[in-house]
Amino acid sequence: MSMARLNLIEDKRFLLHDPGSGHPERPERLPAVRRGCMAAFADVQSVQPVEATESDLLRVHTAGHVERVLAARGQRVVFDADTATSPGSVEAALLAAGGAIVATRAVIEAPDALWFCNIRPPGHHAEANRAMGFCLFNNVAVAAAWALAQDPTLRVAIIDPDVHHGNGTQAIFWNEPRVLYISLHQAPFYPGTGSAAETGGPAAPGSVINFPLPAGAGDAEYLAIVRDAVRPALSAFRPGLLLISAGFDAHRLDPLGGLRVTTEGFGAFFAEIGAWARAAGVPVATMLEGGYSLEALESAVPASLQGLAGAFPAVGPVEPPVPAVAARMAEVRRQLGL
Ligand SMILES: [Zn+2]
Repeated sequence: MSMARLNLIEDKRFLLHDPGSGHPERPERLPAVRRGCMAAFADVQSVQPVEATESDLLRVHTAGHVERVLAARGQRVVFDADTATSPGSVEAALLAAGGAIVATRAVIEAPDALWFCNIRPPGHHAEANRAMGFCLFNNVAVAAAWALAQDPTLRVAIIDPDVHHGNGTQAIFWNEPRVLYISLHQAPFYPGTGSAAETGGPAAPGSVINFPLPAGAGDAEYLAIVRDAVRPALSAFRPGLLLISAGFDAHRLDPLGGLRVTTEGFGAFFAEIGAWARAAGVPVATMLEGGYSLEALESAVPASLQGLAGAFPAVGPVEPPVPAVAARMAEVRRQLGL
């Protein structure tokens, strides 16, 4: 049981988003996260989100996209083969993006506070002009852009350990030197983006760092990457805000993903990020993305949040990463001048 206070963005209206019968991104995911957090934290503070405004959304989405999603309010609209709305979906999506802003504002005001957005629909596949991959609005991008609008001199790092590459987040900030996007994801895999060669646009070289991972990769790869590549990349970029686009579908129990990260691996991965952020005095806010095993969500979300708070037991030595990953890490370290 952790003594840290956990602030959870949550709202019953998130449960009204129903992308269709049998869809893996189902409402039951959020109560599973809540159960795990209640068992792991002595002090859980529930905080209601507010809807993102149109101007919040327009910082990262086109007017056409915002208009199309808002027009789906109260209806079932199919955006792509696996992205559809039910009557409550648009409200949930506005609350998810708005909740990400609430948590981001809170950690900027109180950098030691622990915040998790237990929100859905997820966001990292949503592009400026397109809903896709279960995502309507890009929650983490909306939060990052909100923070940049408050302080144009801010630098924001986004870490995305979801098993899928966050194509939307990468594309939105492709040419934005104030945002560093780091993704660990299975490849080849949906959505097909996220190669090592994608490193940012002409105005923002090096602002994207991708770690494509072969199926079967797990704790060894996640821990080596966060320790020996992500932490040095953060130290080089010197962000004033860290957002975690936290998918848990890299968990070994996940029915969609082919990676093998354990609950202990997630705890240790987040512990590395938390230790870096505390030492640097950088606020961290974490937003739920994917994760489709209820059992994995119930254990790995609280383990990760305990890790962030510095309350997760250190894991023992892990195997070295597989050669392809070790080579990619060496390349990133060279680019960082290490
Ligand atoms: Zn995912």
